[in-house]
Amino acid sequence: MAAYEYETHQYDVVVVGAGGSGLRAALGMAEQGLRTACVTKVFPTRSHTVAAQGGIAASLSNMGPDHWQWHMYDTVKGSDWLGDTDAMEYLAREAPKAVYELEHYGVPFSRTEEGRIYQRPFGGHTTEFGEGPPVQRTCAVADRTGHAILHTLYGQSLKNNAEFYIEYFATDLIMSDDGVCQGVMAWNLADGTLHLFSAKLVVLATGGYGRAYFSATSAHTCTGDGNGMVARAGLPLQDMEFVQFHPTGIYGAGCLITEGARGEGGYLTNSEGERFMERYAPTYKDLASRDVVSRCMTMEIREGRGVGKDKDHIHLHLNHLPPEALHLRLPGISESARIFAGVDVTKEPIPVLPTVHYNMGGIPTNYWGEVLNPTADNPDAIAPGLMAVGEAACASVHGANRLGSNSLIDLVVFGRAASIRAAQIVRADAPNPTPNMASVEKALSRFDGLRHASGTVGTAELRLEMQRTMQSDAAVFRTDKTLAEGCAKMNAVARKMDDIRVTDRSLVWNSDLMETLELDNLMPNALATIVAAEARKESRGAHAHEDYPDRDDVNWRKHSLAWVDGADVRLGYRPVKLEPLTKPEEGGIDPAKIAPKARVY
Ligand SMILES: Cc1cc2nc3c(=O)[nH]c(=O)nc-3n(C[C@H](O)[C@H](O)[C@H](O)COP(=O)(O)OP(=O)(O)OC[C@H]3O[C@@H](n4cnc5c(N)ncnc54)[C@H](O)[C@@H]3O)c2cc1C
Repeated sequence: MAAYEYETHQYDVVVVGAGGSGLRAALGMAEQGLRTACVTKVFPTRSHTVAAQGGIAASLSNMGPDHWQWHMYDTVKGSDWLGDTDAMEYLAREAPKAVYELEHYGVPFSRTEEGRIYQRPFGGHTTEFGEGPPVQRTCAVADRTGHAILHTLYGQSLKNNAEFYIEYFATDLIMSDDGVCQGVMAWNLADGTLHLFSAKLVVLATGGYGRAYFSATSAHTCTGDGNGMVARAGLPLQDMEFVQFHPTGIYGAGCLITEGARGEGGYLTNSEGERFMERYAPTYKDLASRDVVSRCMTMEIREGRGVGKDKDHIHLHLNHLPPEALHLRLPGISESARIFAGVDVTKEPIPVLPTVHYNMGGIPTNYWGEVLNPTADNPDAIAPGLMAVGEAACASVHGANRLGSNSLIDLVVFGRAASIRAAQIVRADAPNPTPNMASVEKALSRFDGLRHASGTVGTAELRLEMQRTMQSDAAVFRTDKTLAEGCAKMNAVARKMDDIRVTDRSLVWNSDLMETLELDNLMPNALATIVAAEARKESRGAHAHEDYPDRDDVNWRKHSLAWVDGADVRLGYRPVKLEPLTKPEEGGIDPAKIAPKARVY
């Protein structure tokens, strides 16, 4: 291996990722006087959070009665009883505080006539513990909510002196021999230099891995890098079989049409012009939760009632809504529909199809963001020095299915929680740990190995093979047969990483090498997803298994864990946390309200 020189930086905290979760964490850490660096492979405001349209859930009660317990109930039900109860309570209770904090930081929320934060209905959000009508809980900045949040948090982070390392690609965690995280290795994409960030605490906020699939609403940068780093550090990934398909990706392009479109009154039709959701979900119709709507759409298409010449998609209608309302509340998606589908939303329906949108699974954490390293006798054991927040993490508040607008709130609630916890556990006056040289060498040698890879398979070619395999065998409908075939195929695909070819050997703006590093991260994500899906013999949330159509709480109400080593995956399980944080006599939810039952909308 060529000898690599690297510069060493010392911080109390290094946050990897500058999306909503990374910025909220970095801002919180810096505010509390911790020396904080934020390392990001794209400019902060280009993180995928910028694309979030519909909004952020919190029971503010600005537009009708609401209660944090109703939000908690909806989240529990949305998760199909796989979420951790303590974390879901924390999310729902802290949500209003976190949104008001955003307002005070300067997020320009849309307003009601009285000047309060505007809130819209979203799928699966209800009143009266699912007994009442839909609730208006989703706070919005028109249909550009993520954009507004990201810009505000970046400004606030700068104000609080968080230090940014922009267009630095983090490659691997630096771990001590006894499993303590000591920092992270990164490559400066612009000048080719390498950097060792030594830290008392590393926070992974690297986002999802939608790009393991062929058609996804997520940015091309959503390659699960943090999950890949965690897998290589010998730590498990959790609940990876649960991949959310959003009902309304634009047919062909994959770009998202927000659920807010249905929240504002949009509806779906099949080739017979029928509003078919009324048949499947009589109460909430087009506003049933995403897994339900995606499955119904797929069913309609499979039964020959898709629209278009190949009968392979569905129509979303907004053309009955007043043009002024579309202009005010949904300007961004009106533009997307025009550019990507050639449709004038005031006149014609938008062609849509369920598209990969969100990863419920990720790096297991407790509700403080501390990463778990479960052992046989302690399922809640912690990996010291390491936290994860945002879509990369699995806290787990979304369980088997995430409700719309519950991710943005997850980013800020748990980004904030991580910084509160960091202030308790990180000692600013203590020296940094001495980095484990064996771990540093390992990171450098993997980097060098890929840089000089001279096999026969090109990165783009192998990536496409992985994406097509995942799209066909680990999508909305799953059977024993497709999953078993998919596992075998993915194993073969992953083994080809040993035969990968990188043609550009330089270190400056080498996109060939960067995409190869990303592919090396996508692989463990894809493998864990399909292997855990093959093993789970039930249907729950986004995991709809045709051979086991029912949820099986006796055998399967448990989190799956996947340790990935090269192309090999070892599975394990840990119990779901069933206890709320607060007892009913102290104002907590009545446990009977959240006991498992059939999930109907
Ligand atoms: C089109 C779209 C619309 C959505 N709309 C909504 C919505 O309305 N409401 C809602 O609640 N949710 C929505 N979601 C989901 C939500 O936006 C995402 O789950 C969330 O924004 C993810 O934020 P994050 O902070 O975890 O990561 P991201 O915003 O994805 O950011 C990841 C960060 O990690 C950095 N990074 C990654 N790898 C590396 C590396 N190797 N080295 C250095 N840096 C790295 C990147 O540079 C980036 O800064 C939407 C998602 C999409 C795709």
